[in-house]
Amino acid sequence: MFAKVIVDISNSNVDKLFTYSVPEELELRVGHHVLVPFGRGNKPVEGFVLELCEQADTSFTVKPIIKKIEPYTVLLPEQIELADWITRAYHCTRADALRVMIPAKLRGSRIKEKTVRTLRIADGIDTAAFRSSMLKKDGTPRSPKQLEVFDLLASSGAEFTVSDINAYIPGASAAITALIEKGAVTEAGRVTFRSPFSGSIRFDEPPELTAEQKKALDIINSAATGRCILLHGVTGSGKTEVYMQAISEVFNAGGGAIVLVPEISLTPQTTDRFRGRFGNNVAVLHSHLSDGERFDEWRRIRFGKARVVVGARSAVFAPVENLKLIIIDEEHEPSYQSELTPKYSAAEVALRRIKYVGARLVLGSATPSLADYYKAKRGKYLLAELPHRINGIPMPEVDIIDMRAEFLGGNDSIFSAALRERLESCLENSEQAILFLNRRGYSSHAECRACGFVFNCPNCDVALTYHKHDDTLRCHYCGACYAMPKKCPNCGQEYIKYTGIGTQQVEEQLIKLFPKVRCLRMDTDTTVGKTSHRDILSAFASGKADVLIGTQMVAKGLDIPNVTLVGVIFADSTLFHSDYRSSERTFQLLTQVAGRAGRADKTGRVVIQTNAPEHRAIRLCKNHDYCSFYNLEIADRLHTLFPPFAVFIRAMFIGKEEEAAAKAADGFSNGVTNAILGTLSALGARNELIFVVPGPAPIKRRNNEYRYCVIIKLARTAHTAVAVNAIYKFGDDFDDEYYKGVEINPTEML
Ligand code: ADP
Ligand code: ZN
Repeated sequence: MFAKVIVDISNSNVDKLFTYSVPEELELRVGHHVLVPFGRGNKPVEGFVLELCEQADTSFTVKPIIKKIEPYTVLLPEQIELADWITRAYHCTRADALRVMIPAKLRGSRIKEKTVRTLRIADGIDTAAFRSSMLKKDGTPRSPKQLEVFDLLASSGAEFTVSDINAYIPGASAAITALIEKGAVTEAGRVTFRSPFSGSIRFDEPPELTAEQKKALDIINSAATGRCILLHGVTGSGKTEVYMQAISEVFNAGGGAIVLVPEISLTPQTTDRFRGRFGNNVAVLHSHLSDGERFDEWRRIRFGKARVVVGARSAVFAPVENLKLIIIDEEHEPSYQSELTPKYSAAEVALRRIKYVGARLVLGSATPSLADYYKAKRGKYLLAELPHRINGIPMPEVDIIDMRAEFLGGNDSIFSAALRERLESCLENSEQAILFLNRRGYSSHAECRACGFVFNCPNCDVALTYHKHDDTLRCHYCGACYAMPKKCPNCGQEYIKYTGIGTQQVEEQLIKLFPKVRCLRMDTDTTVGKTSHRDILSAFASGKADVLIGTQMVAKGLDIPNVTLVGVIFADSTLFHSDYRSSERTFQLLTQVAGRAGRADKTGRVVIQTNAPEHRAIRLCKNHDYCSFYNLEIADRLHTLFPPFAVFIRAMFIGKEEEAAAKAADGFSNGVTNAILGTLSALGARNELIFVVPGPAPIKRRNNEYRYCVIIKLARTAHTAVAVNAIYKFGDDFDDEYYKGVEINPTEML
């Protein structure tokens, strides 16, 4: 027999199936992870068996497979199919596509199953005879320790772990070794699974669903396989409960489910809810697990011990057999788009997977992405809606405060009168508040009041950010760090000021206003450690602080009953970004933070401070009016031909010489225009190419390298995939070291 193998090397030159002969005794199957001799030196290289065949279809001499690395197959047939599709859809090597399916620990022969050493009396030992052989003539033991260990094992007849024996008989290690050498006891290994969970499970009974929830669940349960259902439900409308009951349905029928949540909301709170319903059948996959824990969770899934997987983006590849349901919560989150190769979208992969295996996909959000809501409106997806909160809890009341009017009225602090009053009564009632700021650091940048000099990063074309805690200026793109100068390097005067506001400044001003307030700050500066993000959240949840001040991180997944006030310090900061999605993102973010207020029996209040109160992304937050926002925004997108009516493709050119980068972009631009037009003309669709523009990227210089790009915009039609392939093909043949590949609808246009 012969096997066709993909070697685990990410290089397009070896991105093909290599044929090996299979030694008889190997019992090889498709999906096995193997070691094969590779290249001229026959170096052992890891690979994946993708096909088996009786005949070798090559005239080269065929080498034999060295060995199977794991006894079980590491890839399910559906994962192999999925990898094949990813290779084509995201233009990467097959090795890249297969790697995302397995835990890192499995590669590079680094796997270590965690086993504990256990000991028992060896088979066929006559215990009485052996015992007397351990005694001297006078009846005293030759080695008291060895006798003690032997007696412990013989009298119980059971297996003991080495650590248990050492606990009973301190310093028994040498005795154990001696007994093993004499053949009196045998050593065995018992495999254990490292568990990322701590604490016991509190089982909870599913509540009776509300009429709205029942209707939504019905839509999900009765959808044909291969269908996608968009669950649009306001924050606190019971979406998670609907997910869990939909999972129960497939779980009780022996099927499996995957729930994706944004990395940031993978808190113990979230996972405990699922564990409370499905117990040890839940496996969790996220980036805070150690490699060993992730490997063990992956194996619990692979061996069918856990059939409900809760995880971040890459859990969409989890080896769940008999998969019946995939759920993507907060589906509008940009983090579902991978920034690393392969640059996949979790929703696209999920859609492909459910169609292949005959499962269903649920996308849930209070603020669905415009593109997905558009698909639901057009019938491509089924639509289920939960317009009300559970138990008749009202939506929070939102006040929008015009900060320009505040300033003209003589208030130049960062708190409007309204927010100050609300904070005061919140603190008086011993309730909690969240202050949200879409920034980090003390202030955005430093400039000289006298001459207007701005402190820019010498390596990147961006302003440096002032960090008060260590009085430094830092670049958030390259990490450069400088001591804050006392004098302006340009004019020599001492009038340096910081513009913009940061979480530290909010904290300082808050303390000035309410000296007794206890506050916690959560931003990328305070959450460097592995668990500090969780630590801050749990400290706040347990009432150790009155006010939580934070950036984006506080916007999601928090469900703290005592939070009755949410203040948005400056709502516009995401609004005037040079990105067509900035208005959509601002609306989503504000609606999400607003949803943190008043989730239990206390009415929530939200104060949004802004300089642009008339902007629809802010105005329509007042009544949580997603549908009006959607209608206005989608009409604009159609009018101006932006996604979902068009596709953006960006090619990057990066290198030391600015001129060379610009030249490469120009050359690419001319060539690719011809390639696209040639392809589209043949289809009679020339006018579907909207534009091709070469030019500097928004951040033109980063880490002392120049960045140029070519932006291509195509109308989204039935021909889009063909045109995109023509672009990929042109890129593959474009021979320029500055060319860094193309990306479809990049999440950030930086
Ligand atoms: P969402 O995911 O939409 O934010 P959740 O599922 O978290 O909403 O529900 C909000 C709160 O309401 C949770 O505390 C949940 O336990 C509770 N809940 C959900 N459905 C019901 C129900 N049918 N009856 C009673 N409580 C419910
Ligand atoms: Zn920099």
